[in-house]
Amino acid sequence: MNKKDYYEVLGVSKNASQDEIKSAFRKLAKKYHPDINKDADAPEKFKEAEEAYSVLSDESKRRQYDQYGHAAFSNGSGGAGYDFSDFDFADIFSDIFGGNFTSGFGSYTGRGNRPTKGRDTLTKVRLTFEEAAFGCKKDIEVTTSEDCSYCDGKGGTGESTCSKCHGSGTVTSEQRTILGSFMTRTTCPECNGKGKTYDKECTHCHGKGKVKTTKTINVKIPAGVDDGNQLRVPGKGEAGTNGGPNGDLYLEFSVQKHEIFEREGQDIYFTLPLTIPEVVLGCKKEIPTLYGKVNLTIPAGTQPNDKMRLKGKGIEDPNRYGKGDMYVILDMVVPTKLTKEQKKLYEELNKIENNDSFFKKLKDYLK
Ligand SMILES: [Zn+2]
Ligand SMILES: [Zn+2]
Repeated sequence: MNKKDYYEVLGVSKNASQDEIKSAFRKLAKKYHPDINKDADAPEKFKEAEEAYSVLSDESKRRQYDQYGHAAFSNGSGGAGYDFSDFDFADIFSDIFGGNFTSGFGSYTGRGNRPTKGRDTLTKVRLTFEEAAFGCKKDIEVTTSEDCSYCDGKGGTGESTCSKCHGSGTVTSEQRTILGSFMTRTTCPECNGKGKTYDKECTHCHGKGKVKTTKTINVKIPAGVDDGNQLRVPGKGEAGTNGGPNGDLYLEFSVQKHEIFEREGQDIYFTLPLTIPEVVLGCKKEIPTLYGKVNLTIPAGTQPNDKMRLKGKGIEDPNRYGKGDMYVILDMVVPTKLTKEQKKLYEELNKIENNDSFFKKLKDYLK
């Protein structure tokens, strides 16, 4: 199959900018649109342009195409080619043709006065080690936009239906060309697509219908969240337009370090310092955990950096997959300063024959 090069289809160079690609596609779409152009090969040319544009306007698809050509989108069975049916042409078609746009290829709805979801926002939240481990309720200050309370988000008072578009937000006009006349719909210039006009513009929001606000919301943070985790708070982002839903608020956590505990995922690490007699003879120790004090029996003959596991004394998983564990690292501390008495005892200990097999071997070797 000999497919035409996408750059050739749009008539742009290999290193064309996105603006050049967009403007080339607009020209072709206007020229070959089946509502406008009644030539027999117009639909084919229009589809070709749509396909080329859907690939080249997407930087990652464009890179694949530059590297592998049409094979990048081949379906393996001889290359039926790239399926661009999911591509959203709505924005560019409403740019070209304005407002609500319908074609033989399906219906494209322009921006007009359709309800749109507000934007999502991100706020960073600092948590102490314990707040993250156990969860908490926190007052969080967020800056966002919301409907202006002076005008109820409308942008003005003295509302009346737009006389130019009769409330639809779009106007239809007839254009005559050598190929015949056709109708285009464009966003109403009188009301900017709202479908309504106002006697008085709201002085509080200057007609925008939205104001920036800082408000405090109380959020329940689940137990077990970790540094860098994000939590979605639905509907607390920016206000939607034309009655659309609010965006979402995302909280990103930054968790402070603990003085004695270290965290790795849902597990906790704690280093317990022990003296030489304590590791040699074994001992009992009271240690702190996240859930209160625990008595730990250290066995005789413990080696430096041995670990003891306390099952379930770690941190809860925020997705409720159970709790992590706590690990106690047994650290042997070698004293650098000795009292007279201690020194004497160590010297005496040293005089005693060491029967450990390795030391015996070494002695024999040095003989
Ligand atoms: Zn209007
Ligand atoms: Zn207002």
